[in-house]
Amino acid sequence: MRDQARVVIIGGGIAGCSALYHLTQEGWADVMLIERDELTSGTTWHSAAQVTNFGMTQTMIGLKSHSIKLYKELRDDPDYPVGYNHGDGGIRLANTPEQMDGYRHFASVAAGMGVDFEVIDAEECARRHPLISTDNLLGGLWDPSDGHIDPAQLCQALARRARLAGAEVNRHTPVTGLTQHADHTWTVHTEKGDVKAEIVVNAGGYRCNEIGAMMGVQHPVASMEHQYFLTEDIPAIAEAGHRIPLLRCPISDYYSRQEKGGLLLGFYEQDCRTWGMDGIDPKFTNDLCPDDLDRVTDVLEGAFARMPVLMETGIRSIVNGPITYTIDGAPLVGPIPGKRNAFCIIGLRAGLGEGGGHGWLLAQQIVHGEAEYDTWVIDPRRFTGHASVELTALKAIEDYQNEFRFHFPHEHRPAGRPMKTTPLTPVLAAEGAHFGTVNGWERLDYIAPTPDFTETLGFRFNEVHALTAAEVAHVSTGVGMTEVSGFNRFELTGRDVHSFLDRMTCGRIPTKEGRVGLAYLLNHHGGLKGEATLANLPASDRGPARVWYGSAAASEYHDMDWLTQHVLPDEDVQIRSLTNTHTILVLAGPKSRDVLQAAARGDWSRAAFPWLSVRECHIGIAPATVLGVSFSGELAYEIHVPNQSLYAAYLAMRKAGEAHGLTLFGARAVDSMRMEKGFLHWKADILTEFTPFETGLDRFVKMDKGDFIGKAALQAQHATGLRRKLVCLRIDTTDAPAQGGASVRNRDAIVGTVTSGDWGHRTGLNLAYAFVTPEIAETGSRLTVDILGQQIAAQVIDPSPFDPDHSRMRS
Ligand SMILES: Cc1cc2nc3c(=O)[nH]c(=O)nc-3n(C[C@H](O)[C@H](O)[C@H](O)COP(=O)(O)OP(=O)(O)OC[C@H]3O[C@@H](n4cnc5c(N)ncnc54)[C@H](O)[C@@H]3O)c2cc1C
Repeated sequence: MRDQARVVIIGGGIAGCSALYHLTQEGWADVMLIERDELTSGTTWHSAAQVTNFGMTQTMIGLKSHSIKLYKELRDDPDYPVGYNHGDGGIRLANTPEQMDGYRHFASVAAGMGVDFEVIDAEECARRHPLISTDNLLGGLWDPSDGHIDPAQLCQALARRARLAGAEVNRHTPVTGLTQHADHTWTVHTEKGDVKAEIVVNAGGYRCNEIGAMMGVQHPVASMEHQYFLTEDIPAIAEAGHRIPLLRCPISDYYSRQEKGGLLLGFYEQDCRTWGMDGIDPKFTNDLCPDDLDRVTDVLEGAFARMPVLMETGIRSIVNGPITYTIDGAPLVGPIPGKRNAFCIIGLRAGLGEGGGHGWLLAQQIVHGEAEYDTWVIDPRRFTGHASVELTALKAIEDYQNEFRFHFPHEHRPAGRPMKTTPLTPVLAAEGAHFGTVNGWERLDYIAPTPDFTETLGFRFNEVHALTAAEVAHVSTGVGMTEVSGFNRFELTGRDVHSFLDRMTCGRIPTKEGRVGLAYLLNHHGGLKGEATLANLPASDRGPARVWYGSAAASEYHDMDWLTQHVLPDEDVQIRSLTNTHTILVLAGPKSRDVLQAAARGDWSRAAFPWLSVRECHIGIAPATVLGVSFSGELAYEIHVPNQSLYAAYLAMRKAGEAHGLTLFGARAVDSMRMEKGFLHWKADILTEFTPFETGLDRFVKMDKGDFIGKAALQAQHATGLRRKLVCLRIDTTDAPAQGGASVRNRDAIVGTVTSGDWGHRTGLNLAYAFVTPEIAETGSRLTVDILGQQIAAQVIDPSPFDPDHSRMRS
């Protein structure tokens, strides 16, 4: 074993082998994989190893397409052919119209990535899968590329190719410790000696938290026991004359695929259990958990009803093994939060299908700082301080119990809630608040009219539409208040804060005390990394002169890492998070100034406190910091209050609002209003894949200022031209909003993708934002959007259809 490597990957399952291979493909040959036992001796060896192209976002579909392309190449390699049954086809079943709508939407998302799914009815399902009955079946989603692969051969093939490219693989070498040095490099301690490394990668599967502990990190990953069995041969399969397609059933929570002349049947039982929560036996390797088919009887009944032939088929063998989950079911692939030169590729629950793609995107992040797709959906930093293994276990159980039941828009499942609350949560609940969750925070979504009001979850406009309309009307004609919990807020102090921020952002930053500005952070490729509201607070009894940096609720770890990693050794900049200590109350509407004036001393007139100002004050007796900014397009104020004074501020505001008819509104109303203003959402519309010019944020870029991160790439784009352009679309239907990921067409050709959509209640327009090819980005272009299987007429309109000159928020 060498004693040095540029990258050391710990773990030789599909995650580690794929990462190793892809690093060599990106040109890094000085890389090493260290495995405590044999390759694939964790979960990988006993995987059912199904490989689907299905995903709910373009990033997930794209990375799975990469897996499939790679696996086909490995299958066809004459020197080391891998067993891969590609193209058996697979059906995701449905028995509700809402599930069918979901499949139509996911087919639209896939089409934009060049992947063809088909939504088929029950009879067609039965025609393609000769063993199933059509009882209680509406139809399904057909993935023609579905199949399965030999997991051990796949890993051996990847390791072999990596070795040929110069990588080293060390088996039977447990990693026992990790030491990080002042220059951020590592010493990896193993039972066979130490290895110096620039970068380490945790690919430890269900042992990822043992490796995490070696670097003082706890990953939000928990394992579940998961079982499948293999049946005896089934004559009907031989008689079918073709391979039997895969099945995934959200009605009865099982999957199946052909295995030799029989079936493999896997189960997601309701009576499920976590595994290894209190430590894992070091001898558990190449091992399984004890079988327990009693636990899956409920699911078995559903499978028998769908495939009656199973009732007369014997079981050949049973497999029960640990499978890892995260808080939202997607894995953690990318930089480890709070660490330098440390990455992970863990929490994979569909690692055989996805592993090829995850290793590819991880290698790109390590080598180039960013992958070609925006990887937020798998970014380890999307969870912050609340992300314990305890919470993960609760969400893992919930996810396991709903394995094939995708989330509907606005669906926030109950496990692990409430996780993060403010002193106002129960107060708002008593007012009828319906909450969604944002990074674990309970956030006011809308005010429900009655205690037993429930929303019909689905992809079409529903009964909340009218409630949102009323909230928007109230805000735009009078005044409303909402709470924005969990908004990310850093305080930056030190002599060099402004020059530091100037280098980190692409536009002109506010430098005058008392002023506020919006700034964008780019990566080195010119892609949009972050969006921040910068507020210059003068020195006061609350502290020295400082800048408040505000950004999206989930961005805390992401933005903190990006900022701190770019402070130069000789720069005087300190950054501390106030995310969890303060909460925002937003006052919005033409009468909001009157309410603020009644609640706080001082002159709040337009002349004394114009738009884009910041001031410290008291709301009643509560200390507060007020920013004159608006996400709704109405005259509005963000009132940042320390949590211990939040209730006092709320009471003062409600009292001051009595004379002006103040009512509450929620995030759904905010979303409707921001769509009409062309205000974008980070990680929906603002993505690393696109530059500010492509995103229509040209006015926030100052190419004539000094150097900033991403400037050279933007200069290069001036020469090469834009690849896509974000446009606002008016969509001609009142039935459903466009969902993120939906495909945009020009006649039959796909020319773009929706990033977000919602109804604009002030304009009466069904609106969407979409990245489209530049030649059809002109206002007036007529296109169609693929919404729930229909090609709906759409037109490019000017990006801020409501009050385009912003006169209301400046009033
Ligand atoms: C029953 C079952 C069925 C499944 N079916 C499918 C399916 O159909 N399709 C699909 O895509 N996925 C499926 N999965 C999930 C899939 O198998 C996993 O997502 C995947 O195998 C995880 O791979 P991994 O590399 O992350 O982890 P592992 O395979 O567990 O690899 C981690 C490796 O790290 C090593 N390691 C740990 N600690 C150390 C250390 N200190 N030093 C050195 N090495 C260390 C371990 O020995 C191990 O080899 C299934 C899982 C189960 C349990």
